[in-house]
Amino acid sequence: MDYARNRRRLIRLIRIYPLIALGVLTLAYLLGAFSEQEDPLISQNVIITALYLFVGVVPLVFIIGFITVGKASDKAGLKNNNAHSKLNYNHAFDLPSEVMHGYKLAIITARPPTLTGLTGDTYLSDASAKCSINKEHVPPVADCECGFYAYSDLTEAKFEGSINPGAFLLDVDLYGVGFKYARGYRAETQVVNELITPRRCQFCRILPAKVFVTTYKLGYDDTSWWQWQIRCVICSSTFKDADKLGVKEMSASLKLLIT
Ligand SMILES: [Zn+2]
Ligand SMILES: [Zn+2]
Repeated sequence: MDYARNRRRLIRLIRIYPLIALGVLTLAYLLGAFSEQEDPLISQNVIITALYLFVGVVPLVFIIGFITVGKASDKAGLKNNNAHSKLNYNHAFDLPSEVMHGYKLAIITARPPTLTGLTGDTYLSDASAKCSINKEHVPPVADCECGFYAYSDLTEAKFEGSINPGAFLLDVDLYGVGFKYARGYRAETQVVNELITPRRCQFCRILPAKVFVTTYKLGYDDTSWWQWQIRCVICSSTFKDADKLGVKEMSASLKLLIT
């Protein structure tokens, strides 16, 4: 079973749920649920009860769906992990034999701009992974989480991008010792080939994206940071020159190709 695909399907369904709800309400209206008709086609009570059921049951179905997919994928993950710790640790250097090319998401933070993973680790466009849990580790270590991760499937990375609206898509090659996992690879070193910018402005989502701008995001404690977005001409017009970077400058600053 492909858990990631099932999860994607569920999230897509949730996105169109407002449309379905609107459709159901329109249907209920047309059937006379909200008017005092003398002799309605279907009794008002029946329609109202059906509406209540719809409101109550559909979210419940979604919740059950998520729990089922989550549990099944946890189970498979555990099985995989067990198999891994038995198998791979001693044979890590045999794995895998193919070219580890993939895609991942990153945000751009700080000044000067820095690539930052969704978990908050910063890295250069050409870097070796470091382990934040155990200094003795040379990542990746089979029983640890360390190493650079990448999805092998572009569709999956793009979908994750759609639920992380401030993130950019990276095209990467992984080298050195590597492991395969359900969604891609985890490896020792990473070279970012390309940062693929969204075609539309990350603010209005309508006009073409033209220029990088940075805003200061306030967080709790010391989690405040500068975050870079690519915006259209209009949504970037209020920014000071010091808070703007052209695509070429950003490309030079991050030392990678931006397309
Ligand atoms: Zn580690
Ligand atoms: Zn815009």
